[in-house]
Amino acid sequence: MSTHSHMNIETFFTIDMPYRERMEIRRTVFKGGAGPRVAVVAGVHGDELEGLYVCHCLSAWLDELLRTSPHGLLGSVELYPAVNTLGLDTLTRGLPVFDTDLNRAFPGSSAGPLPDRLAAALMQELSGASLVVDIHASNIYLREIPQVRINQEFESRLVPIARNMNLDLIWLHGAATVLETTVAHSLNNSGTPCLVAEMGVGMRITPEYCTQLVAGILAVWKELGVLAPEVTVPATPHVPLIADDSNVHYLNAQTSGMFIATADHWTDVRRGELLGTIVSPFRGDILSDVRSPVDGILFTLREYPLVYEGSLMARVMARTGGEL
Ligand SMILES: [Zn+2]
Repeated sequence: MSTHSHMNIETFFTIDMPYRERMEIRRTVFKGGAGPRVAVVAGVHGDELEGLYVCHCLSAWLDELLRTSPHGLLGSVELYPAVNTLGLDTLTRGLPVFDTDLNRAFPGSSAGPLPDRLAAALMQELSGASLVVDIHASNIYLREIPQVRINQEFESRLVPIARNMNLDLIWLHGAATVLETTVAHSLNNSGTPCLVAEMGVGMRITPEYCTQLVAGILAVWKELGVLAPEVTVPATPHVPLIADDSNVHYLNAQTSGMFIATADHWTDVRRGELLGTIVSPFRGDILSDVRSPVDGILFTLREYPLVYEGSLMARVMARTGGEL
């Protein structure tokens, strides 16, 4: 074969900074044969780091593939690990200075301010890919098991792909609750399939979740023909549950205080089971109990301890028949 696989780090967006420096936002490109092109996006929110580590792991895996069997890469892979560079630099969720959530700026505009320009550049690069995975890491308040969230409008195209991605949960969202200015919605709307992976917790890296998602992404790439059939990819033992607006229960704090979890995240819980307590630093008694409303799976759990009355503490997906 005449194809020579290789890896490149390229600048896909650049803009003059007000004082001296020029900002460059980069991607890593692995080029193999003329097969399908796929992409992974991370760091759209500057306080979410799980996806940056997933990109590192994919890059390490692809390095090894190119070294040992360069013809195993039939297509090409683009990794965009740190899209919101200014946010990542300053530990800010949105785009600093512009005070904008970058994931509310899509599809963007090449003549607009920085967030719009960056969004437009990313849309242009990603359009036409066979699959884009946009990785998010909740926020600093909540910890999530590895899951994808899919707008029901795109369910028939995306669920079959998501089922093979080694996730624990697929959460289908009704069209009314979906934001239309995200990168995923803009891509799906324009015909480029994009899955939103959500896992872990903000400002942290959870290596076992990253490893789980890496295995799922590689399995899907192999199915799409990005990787050759003879390439060995890691096992994908996780089979996702399907959640939707009818079987997800939200637990909100009854009192303000400090949440002390007693249940493990990602476990079977029983109706009425104690998930944690809310206590005060001033007093020795318990202010309120947090109990599961149903028999189900605890897939979201409060990570940041200080809560206000009404704060989200947990999400439980009901197993059938266990509702209060
Ligand atoms: Zn995010």
